[in-house]
Amino acid sequence: MQGNYERILEKISKISGIGNEEVERRVEAKRARLSGLISHEGAAQVVAAELGINFDNEKLKIDELLPGMRRANVVGKIVNLFPVRTFTTKKGDQGKVVNLILADDTSNVRVVLWDTHHIEFIEQGVFFEGSVVEIVNASMREGELHLGSFSEIKESKEVFDSVRKDKVVKEKTISEFQISDAAKIRAFIVQAFEPRFFYVCPECRKKVASGADGFICAEHGKVAAEKRALMNFVLDDGTETTRAVVFNEALADIGVNALDEPENLIIQREALLGKEMVFSGNVRMNKFFNNPEFIIDQVKEVDLDGLIVSLEKT
Ligand SMILES: [Zn+2]
Repeated sequence: MQGNYERILEKISKISGIGNEEVERRVEAKRARLSGLISHEGAAQVVAAELGINFDNEKLKIDELLPGMRRANVVGKIVNLFPVRTFTTKKGDQGKVVNLILADDTSNVRVVLWDTHHIEFIEQGVFFEGSVVEIVNASMREGELHLGSFSEIKESKEVFDSVRKDKVVKEKTISEFQISDAAKIRAFIVQAFEPRFFYVCPECRKKVASGADGFICAEHGKVAAEKRALMNFVLDDGTETTRAVVFNEALADIGVNALDEPENLIIQREALLGKEMVFSGNVRMNKFFNNPEFIIDQVKEVDLDGLIVSLEKT
């Protein structure tokens, strides 16, 4: 099967009239100039932008969606539809939001509906789990596809025999990390920093600032913020080291109770050093350190039995 990078190259070539090999050469040159810190897909997007190409009228596969894309168009099947949630805006109006998971034959993505007309489609049962829909003019924000009032969601006649419902994660080494990768690595914890705390909006999950009379979300106004913990780590898999972040839920899986007494926390942190685990997450650019950082969403013990089975098979 053709990879998403190859498909993006082909699209750029087709739209620009520049040969496939020349497009690829430009992408490699772009990556070289950025010291390899950008993925092939990301560099291809930069090259496309420089050529004045946008993907506005292109129907993309879900695994072709790239960070920061505006006006993205995809078709997929709704495999998971979450209940309509309401919130109060800064002006005191009632707002609504709907989350759903859209899948095609290449991957899946969380879709967020903000527009009342789109939400009515869900409320009135026009679209439901199993519906195939076309999404037009949506934007990628932190790995999610967001639909505003300029976006469209409409029925599609496309048929999907099978869709990818599992999270598409590639097994990688740290030295192979590229920005925006979803990756799974087996690595040792070589440093564990003190937990830090922050507050998020219960509606949009964005960080909130604390004001004079409570917590204020830029989008939802005054909210009852949720306290969350995070911990920074340095991981080493033998190929390289990376900074990593583990949030709330996954901290328990790593063996840390962030709310525990300081002296217990010290013991928990020390116990982690030198521990080998399997980490899944996304590679992001840390703007402060100007370095890639691994945002971990799942931590698992190394499955030695499974590992032995897979070694015996090879
Ligand atoms: Zn909010």
